[in-house]
Amino acid sequence: MFTSIAGRAAVVTGATRGIGKGIAQVFAGAGARVLIVGRDTDAAKVTVAELSATGAEVSYLLADVSRREDCRRIAATAAERLGGIDVLCANAGIFPSAPLAEMTDENIDEVLGTNLKGAILSVQACLPALAASGRGRVILTSSITGPITGFPGWSHYGASKAGQLGFLRTAAIELAASGITINAVLPGNIVTEGLADLGEEYQAQMAASIPLRRLGTVEEIGHTVLFLATDEAGYITGQAIVVDGGQVLPESLAALDG
Ligand code: NAP
Repeated sequence: MFTSIAGRAAVVTGATRGIGKGIAQVFAGAGARVLIVGRDTDAAKVTVAELSATGAEVSYLLADVSRREDCRRIAATAAERLGGIDVLCANAGIFPSAPLAEMTDENIDEVLGTNLKGAILSVQACLPALAASGRGRVILTSSITGPITGFPGWSHYGASKAGQLGFLRTAAIELAASGITINAVLPGNIVTEGLADLGEEYQAQMAASIPLRRLGTVEEIGHTVLFLATDEAGYITGQAIVVDGGQVLPESLAALDG
């Protein structure tokens, strides 16, 4: 039995939809007070309405994690509304496709700026509050793409997600003195609005390459993130947990035939 996280203050970036919304839902269901962050007002309102309907304390803030000033506002708003931050889920991310031969400066800056710089800025801005918590937890949403696998069109994305792991290993050492742990979850292919944008053929192709023969759910990522936020996970830091239905395991397509 895990110690309840009821009443704890959690910030989830990129939570207006997709995996972040799933993380926010799981945390709200566990009794945490949640601040969701994103840029789309309509989606934010819908998410807050849905999660609040269960009686949970959930509010939203419009902010772009690639901007330092916006990240400062995230920390300030959490201080004002939640009285601090116990858990930061740095989940906001984008995955537009661009073949390497045609990749522009804008393509590179957009993906690295949101996924890698955005994660660093979010953590940096929330550090004082996480340290004040005395049991601060940071969970990054990385990916299997980059740290473990590759996919055409996503070399910049893969670099951003592998870069997050490079960041967290040193951050884990620096933050340990403040009692803060920082870990990452590496989702495989998870059913989200963002993934749906990639088309049905992409999803079917992915499902066929996964030993469990299905894509993951946002709740399955949320529960892993929740575990890393518990008191019982307090001795885990600087680590990455793959949640992918076994997708990274087969050595060849034949390995899936048995
Ligand atoms: P999604 O459905 O497209 O949702 C992305 C979320 O990030 C949205 O809430 C979006 O909110 C927010 N966001 C994007 N850019 C932002 C910015 N600059 N500032 C603040 N919020 C921003 O994507 P998803 O599939 O849930 O992906 C979420 C995370 O999981 C990403 O880091 C992604 O790389 C990672 N991931 C996903 C999968 C998968 O299979 N789905 C697999 C591995 C890793 P607004 O539109 O409101 O700004």
